[in-house]
Amino acid sequence: MALPPSLDESSQAGRNRRRTWIRVLRVSLALAVSLLIFQIKLDYFEAWLYDLRVRVRPAPPLSGQIELILIDRESLSLSKGNPSFREHAQVLRQLLGAEPRAVVYDLRFDEIPGGDVEKMDFAETAGQDPRVLVVTEELLEMKEGEGRRSLPPPFERLRLVPGPKSKDSNNFARDGVTRRFLLEYEGVRAFHLQLAGDIRPELGVPEMVRGQFDFLGAKQAYINFRPTGSYPALKFSELLRGEAPPKERLQGKILIVGNDTHVSEKDYAQIPYSRSSVAMTSAEVHANILDTLLLENSVIRSPWWVDLFFVLIVSLVTVWVVFAAKPARGLLILGASLLVFIFVGGLAFWPFGFWIGMAHPLLTVFLCYYFLIPYRLIIENRRSWEIYQKHKLLQQLEELKTNFISMMSHDLKTPVARIQGMTEIIEKDTAPLSTSQREALDTIRQSSDDLLKFINSILQYGKIEAQQIQLHLQPKDINSLMKEVVRKHDFLAKIKKIKVIEEYDPLFPIQVDPELLKQVFSNLVENAIKYSPEDTRILISTEENNGLIEVQVADQGPGIPADELPNIFMKFFRSKNAKSSPIKGSGLGLYLAQYFTELHGGRVSVESTYGQGSTFTVKLPLEQRSQRPGDLN
Ligand code: ADP
Repeated sequence: MALPPSLDESSQAGRNRRRTWIRVLRVSLALAVSLLIFQIKLDYFEAWLYDLRVRVRPAPPLSGQIELILIDRESLSLSKGNPSFREHAQVLRQLLGAEPRAVVYDLRFDEIPGGDVEKMDFAETAGQDPRVLVVTEELLEMKEGEGRRSLPPPFERLRLVPGPKSKDSNNFARDGVTRRFLLEYEGVRAFHLQLAGDIRPELGVPEMVRGQFDFLGAKQAYINFRPTGSYPALKFSELLRGEAPPKERLQGKILIVGNDTHVSEKDYAQIPYSRSSVAMTSAEVHANILDTLLLENSVIRSPWWVDLFFVLIVSLVTVWVVFAAKPARGLLILGASLLVFIFVGGLAFWPFGFWIGMAHPLLTVFLCYYFLIPYRLIIENRRSWEIYQKHKLLQQLEELKTNFISMMSHDLKTPVARIQGMTEIIEKDTAPLSTSQREALDTIRQSSDDLLKFINSILQYGKIEAQQIQLHLQPKDINSLMKEVVRKHDFLAKIKKIKVIEEYDPLFPIQVDPELLKQVFSNLVENAIKYSPEDTRILISTEENNGLIEVQVADQGPGIPADELPNIFMKFFRSKNAKSSPIKGSGLGLYLAQYFTELHGGRVSVESTYGQGSTFTVKLPLEQRSQRPGDLN
């Protein structure tokens, strides 16, 4: 019964309102989850993802302005320990002779051996030349102002410059990796900035440095690292031995003198490429910082709101996937979105040098998915339980219906048989009947025949439902079974002036249940006659083909519309035309024919063009294999 329009509309509106509410709830949930997850500090994971990006992208170029002078193990053995001030003075004179832009000492002077005379000599050489710089890591040195930054005598004339690196020890990732560097602290600029400014003035302005940010009162930026060993390096020992490189190699360059002795961890830094405590020499880190400034390619970290935006998008997608998408499709969408996000993150980093926060979005996906999936499972479970209950109910109803129909049919069989018996008695009676009486008697016989056929079909259907059909196999010639069926329908065909043509190939007998198979053939032949117009032909043929016996019944009847073809073997299906015509039928014939054929391990199929007749084909295997429909192919 259709609902009155007003009721129908109001329930539809209610459903829409509910759906909108659910949507609002989901978006709010995604929002809440994003905000919550965004509060979690994920610096360590974020830095790890940053390092990963640094490692997989191609190494950034070099400015070509920097050369390293490294005191390595060979230098140690040549000098029998740390090179002395005398040796340093000798090398420095060589270096200055090559006219470099600057000679930067990244060494701890208190560890250099040498007597007063040697110290004085070095101090003299180094102190006279403004290009010689001595780097100090101490922040305090930066703080105390120009005048007070100096080395103890006799080195007081040397230019002590601040060059602190910024390890992530107490802040950010807290993993001891050097990723940042200081540009300026309380007005004092680090030497990197000063040197860069000497080359091009605008490079020396902290505010102009790409990606510059304030942290704990200092202006900082990220170092754009190259892998260890990227910079050209000279060994201190080579210079000591007088194997100076050609002047052009060092001319105009920034030379950084540092330790690579593998003796003290202080001479090294952990970098994004490696967490080894000797991942990169301090001198090479300075070179990387200088190049970051000279090439203006420091990494820009995305502002917090960009990160929050991505977290929001990701959580919205995840919430939608968990609640609305089908599990497999959802996982696929989620995987694809994650890949897209990772790709966008990677692309922003290289080649554009943008560091988009990835830790929060990734965590959002996992948390959302793992926390919300159980909820989804509960909903799914409830739904499938409901479907199961409905299915059970339907099954019970179906059983009840079948039982009822079978019972009714059974009870109807006896009165019908009695009617048939009585009809026969009257027919055999010698008393003459009037024409109208004979016609009435014919109709009674015909109707009771139809009724009995219908009842038998129903009873067989009931047996199928109760799985009570058994095959009684015996060797039979299919041709003779078919001939028997055709004989039985001769009369019907004659009435409609239909010519039945029979073409039988000789066949060996096969194991079949003759009664069931006759019923199959009977149904096909009867349908062909029943649905065909007068003065047409029906071709019945048999042959053996590829280990199968093929039986065909082809007619010149009305054919079956294409949209009905897939349904004709369904129980109780009758075509629209058949229903509106006077042709009687239960809609069970083809269903039973298919079931019985499949019981024999065979198949029944139909080819039909609407308006041009139909051809039904039964294929039976020579050997019996299957006993139940479903295991045919
Ligand atoms: P029915 O008792 O209606 O004949 P069947 O199961 O035997 O039931 O057939 C199902 C439907 O298939 C029929 O209602 C009819 O529309 C169609 N059909 C079967 N055989 C033919 C045929 N030879 N020509 C045209 N239509 C057919």
